[in-house]
Amino acid sequence: MTSNTSTAQQRLIDADHAHLLHPFSSLYSQKNKELAFFESGEGIWLTSASGEKYIDAAGGLWCTNVGYGRQELVDAASSQMSKLCYLHSFSNFTHEPQIELTEKLLSLLPSGFDRIFYGLSGSDANDSNVKLIWRYNNVLGRPEKKKIIARESGYHGSTVTAGSLTGITAAHRAFDIPRPGFLHTVAADWHRRPDHIATEEEFVRYLADELEKLILAEGPDTIAAFFAEPISGSGGIIPPPAGYFEAIDAVLKRYDILMVADEVITGFGRTGTWFASPRYNIKPDLMTLSKGITSGYLPLSASVLSERVSKVLYSEAEADGAFGHGFTASGHPVCTAVAMANIDILEREKLPENAAKVGAYLQNQLREQLGDRPFVSDIRGEGLLMTIEFDKDKETRTPFVQASKAGHFAIQACHDEKLVIRGARGRALAAMAPPLTLTESEADQIVERLLRAFTRIEDAMHKGEFD
Ligand code: PLP
Repeated sequence: MTSNTSTAQQRLIDADHAHLLHPFSSLYSQKNKELAFFESGEGIWLTSASGEKYIDAAGGLWCTNVGYGRQELVDAASSQMSKLCYLHSFSNFTHEPQIELTEKLLSLLPSGFDRIFYGLSGSDANDSNVKLIWRYNNVLGRPEKKKIIARESGYHGSTVTAGSLTGITAAHRAFDIPRPGFLHTVAADWHRRPDHIATEEEFVRYLADELEKLILAEGPDTIAAFFAEPISGSGGIIPPPAGYFEAIDAVLKRYDILMVADEVITGFGRTGTWFASPRYNIKPDLMTLSKGITSGYLPLSASVLSERVSKVLYSEAEADGAFGHGFTASGHPVCTAVAMANIDILEREKLPENAAKVGAYLQNQLREQLGDRPFVSDIRGEGLLMTIEFDKDKETRTPFVQASKAGHFAIQACHDEKLVIRGARGRALAAMAPPLTLTESEADQIVERLLRAFTRIEDAMHKGEFD
């Protein structure tokens, strides 16, 4: 208990320690770890329970695209809740907000999509996409074509299926996942490329060859789909090398494998355009959306189907009977109404454009002010999704032996400077995805705080604390 902690607050802290199971936490240290207890938010700012103001440069979990405290979204939720707080979407039940949102999304998405199924999280939207793909191949009379390939370092969620798509071993170990039929190919991680690879072109050829080898080893007739984030987020902010998705697309086409773009992080302006797929010439057959769809104000996700996929699914609809999939909260009226209001703000305030402009400014500042530092081996990203990566030896890109520990140290050093950033398992990173409202002067404040934190981060690295 600090001097600022009231008795009532302390009771809550004790109850949290005693009874809450926090996601992605150490069950061991969670019991007595100091809590980051926040009470309110405004724009890019979070205010702690003891009244201290932090810049949330992580944007929550890469999701608070319009920033905290938007009364307009509160009003949209409140008025929809008063009017019709709940309606299921099973069978023929429907309501205005989900229809309006669907039309709006289809107008913003790349062309070729025509159906949307709503869920509540990125994980369930990926699960839904897997089921839709399985059904697609059943309808096409090829029930053996069911395996899914995703990538090492990819993050697609943490349900049994989405966790199986995820390519981060730390998310697998405890749970007997990935389940059979979920495979992983090499990450398009230029920073961690094998030493024998000299150019991006060579790397792209290598990655496409690795994917093709896996497909051939498993049997092309057994592979249904390939899942990828345009930029891997939770795995370490990994933008693709030039030409990567074009090369992957050629392999997938050769074996009639569907492409799924998981734009849970990159959607809704995060990388400077509404969606990141067109930027990298990704031509998805399905897409996964969540997070920025409501800027985190309420849970909502979308599984988006191309005409190619929906045509097949609907072709057998009469014979198949009911489509046996859906959630109590699918297309929830309040969540979809808030999503519409959120998209309205993104459009009206031109926030994707701002993400491109201020993102470029912030990345330039990071390069100018931190690029020459001894342990800063990479600064990368797109729009307002970026990271600084630390390595023990930046010339050879040799990571710290205890990279996760170094990463945690960096997060804590930033937290001490009232700056919230994120890391990635097994890497030493300072990753950021601030609200897309970020101004240049707010970006300067992020850099100032990072610079102050760097004094301690570098000191610990110089002392060899992480080997
Ligand atoms: N897909 C991507 C790319 C993500 O980054 C995440 C979450 O971070 C998910 C899926 C899972 O989303 P959720 O945590 O809402 O289940």
